[in-house]
Amino acid sequence: MRTPPYSLHTPDSLDDAFAIVEGLLEAKEDFDWVAGGTDLLPNYKWHLNTKNHVISLANVAELNTLNSTHIGAMVRLHDLSESEDTHPLIRKAAASVASILIRRSATVGGNICLDTRCFWFNQSEEWRESIDWCYKCDCGTGADCRVIPNQNTLCVATYQADLAPSLMCLDAKIHLASPNGKRVMAMNEFFSLDGITRNVLEPGELVTHITLPKNASDFIGDYQKLTQRESWDFPEAGIAAAWKLSGGIIEELRICSTGLESIPRLHSDEANTAISNWNGEESVEKLAESVRKAIKPVNNTYFNPRYRRKMVKVLTRRCLKPLKNL
Ligand SMILES: Cc1cc2nc3c(=O)[nH]c(=O)nc-3n(C[C@H](O)[C@H](O)[C@H](O)COP(=O)(O)OP(=O)(O)OC[C@H]3O[C@@H](n4cnc5c(N)ncnc54)[C@H](O)[C@@H]3O)c2cc1C
Ligand code: SF4
Repeated sequence: MRTPPYSLHTPDSLDDAFAIVEGLLEAKEDFDWVAGGTDLLPNYKWHLNTKNHVISLANVAELNTLNSTHIGAMVRLHDLSESEDTHPLIRKAAASVASILIRRSATVGGNICLDTRCFWFNQSEEWRESIDWCYKCDCGTGADCRVIPNQNTLCVATYQADLAPSLMCLDAKIHLASPNGKRVMAMNEFFSLDGITRNVLEPGELVTHITLPKNASDFIGDYQKLTQRESWDFPEAGIAAAWKLSGGIIEELRICSTGLESIPRLHSDEANTAISNWNGEESVEKLAESVRKAIKPVNNTYFNPRYRRKMVKVLTRRCLKPLKNL
């Protein structure tokens, strides 16, 4: 498994990076951003949708800021999980990613923009050739999707990153920049329900940072994930929950899932219905069941969809344990 050749660009500021982007776009050359490289480079080794140019963000110092309301895209997950400035919910989610070795290289931007995964896709080139490829990396064959067969217009590969649900529960905003300018949106609006496009990033656009509202510290919460191995692994299902209490009453409750569909999903309707008439353990049970019903995993990760859905209920219950007696 040899990494195919590519030209590596190493800008040391965002302006430099955008000058490189403009040159590549003008020359109609494809490229990828690389941050920690813990996902992109293994994918390149497996010859998964490789590009001729890779732009590294490693030297762009302006993406490294970390404080309680601002998380730069190049902040390493290890630093995020260890910092006292980080919200405890985000700290827990960051600490659950992979292993300490990987977290020392892995970044926030790379985690949020993680490529979607599927057991028909995350395989060596020889393996994929032996099954005549699939739509997400069809090598010019027009191959169909193997999960939803007889079509090659939709990829349902699974979003298996850990950070987004906690950030979404804390009402984070995501900041993007490109040679055409900057924009900002709720994290909830960043993801696209398609395993190939994944998110709303335009060609040449990148994530610069995440911001949290000042009142994020009023929320407490939990993140629970199902993995194949306890030591380190991608979430087969993940649930984050955050709530704000006022005089023993739940004022706000947010729940978000990951590892189950092509996007992380906020379950606002289910949470709002539950707090409108909260009744301790009974409400936890009802809410866990309504989150289970809302998600529709497909058969493309290690555990089967039925088990993953069943575990959504268990994970939601575990997250909401502190609310059982309210
Ligand atoms: C053994 C192993 C176990 C893992 N376990 C987990 C796990 O448990 N949970 C989990 O969430 N992940 C896991 N991962 C995946 C990965 O390590 C992490 O998600 C990591 O945070 C990715 O960050 P990175 O900086 O290395 O991304 P990179 O590999 O550099 O990039 C990933 C993708 O994001 C894009 N990108 C990077 N930065 C930006 C930016 N600022 N703007 C726009 N696009 C950008 C890249 O172009 C690429 O498409 C695992 C990986 C391995 C190898
Ligand atoms: S969901 Fe379909 S198109 Fe997407 S990676 Fe899996 S098999 Fe390929």
